[in-house]
Amino acid sequence: MNTNTLFMKRISLLLVFALALLTACAPKQEQTRVQKDLASHVIVIGLDGWGTWCMEKGKAPFIKSMMEEGSWTLNKRTMRPSISGTNWAAMMNGTPVEFSGITGNENHPTFTPILLTEHNAQPTFFHVMRQVRPEAETGVVCEWGDFLNYADTLCLSYYKRIEDPEAHPDAIVEESVKYIKEKKPAIAFIHIDALDHMGHAYGQGSAEYYAELPLVDDRVRRIVEGVKEAGIYEDSIIILTSDHGHYGTGHGGDTDLEITTPLVVFGKGVRKNHQITEPVIQMDIAATVAQVFHLPQPESWRGVPVPVFE
Ligand SMILES: [Zn+2]
Ligand SMILES: [Zn+2]
Repeated sequence: MNTNTLFMKRISLLLVFALALLTACAPKQEQTRVQKDLASHVIVIGLDGWGTWCMEKGKAPFIKSMMEEGSWTLNKRTMRPSISGTNWAAMMNGTPVEFSGITGNENHPTFTPILLTEHNAQPTFFHVMRQVRPEAETGVVCEWGDFLNYADTLCLSYYKRIEDPEAHPDAIVEESVKYIKEKKPAIAFIHIDALDHMGHAYGQGSAEYYAELPLVDDRVRRIVEGVKEAGIYEDSIIILTSDHGHYGTGHGGDTDLEITTPLVVFGKGVRKNHQITEPVIQMDIAATVAQVFHLPQPESWRGVPVPVFE
C-alpha cells in the first residue's frame, strides 16, 4: 500500500466518522416530530376477561355507543396462552410470546427473551415514549397489579394500584379521572378487573357475569366523561379492549370463547361506525399506540397498526 492510498483511506475513515457523529448528534426528537401526532392523548382501557361471547346478549349501552362512534371488531385474537399476563404484556410490548418468553402471569419470562432493554424488560410503548420524549406524561391506574411486571414501571411517570377493588368498585373511576384531569397524560392505561372476577367465580355465560357487564360499562362511561371534563377529549384517542375471554370458570386454553376478544377505538380522526374487518391480534394495539405518536417500533415488535384512522 503506497502512502497516497493510505492517506485516502484515512480521509475516508475520517469522513465516515464525521458522518456518524453528525447522525448521532442530530436532534432525534425534532426528526420524529416533523409529522404531526394523530392525537395528543391515548387512553387505553383494558377490561380483564371481557370476551366477545358476552356482546350479543349483554347489556353494554355505552360500549355499544362507542362502537357506533368509532371503529370496532369483535374478532380480535388474544395471544396464546389466553392468560392475562401474556396478553397485557403483548398489548404493551407488541412482541410475540416466542420472543418475549412471557407465557403466563409469572414475574419472569419462561425462557430467554430475544431482546431486553436496559431495564431488563421488553420495550413497551411506555419505554419507547420515554426514549423519544422523556418529558411525556405516562401512567397506569389498575386493579390487577401483576401486569406491572411487564409494563416497565421505570418508564412510567405515574402508577396507582387500587387496593381491594371488590370492596371499592368505584375507586378505579375516581382515581383514573383524577389522574387524567390533573396530569392530562400522553398515554394512560386503565385496567378494570371485575368481569374476569365474575368469569372465574361464576363462569362464562353466567347470570352474574352478565349482571356485572352493565356496571363495568358504566365505569367506562364515567372514565370517558372524565376525559371530557379534563378538556382533552377532542384531542384524544380512546382504545377499549381485553386480554382474553373465558371457558367455564377459567381461561388459558384455545377455545374460541377464550381467544376471541373485542377492540373498540374512537376519538380524534378515527373512522366512525366502522367495523374493522382486517385480522387483529393483541400485539397490534402497541403498534397502533406507536402510530398515533409516530414512535419507532423496536426491532422485536411484530404488531401492525389497526387501520382505524380516516
Ligand atoms: Zn385476565
Ligand atoms: Zn382471569
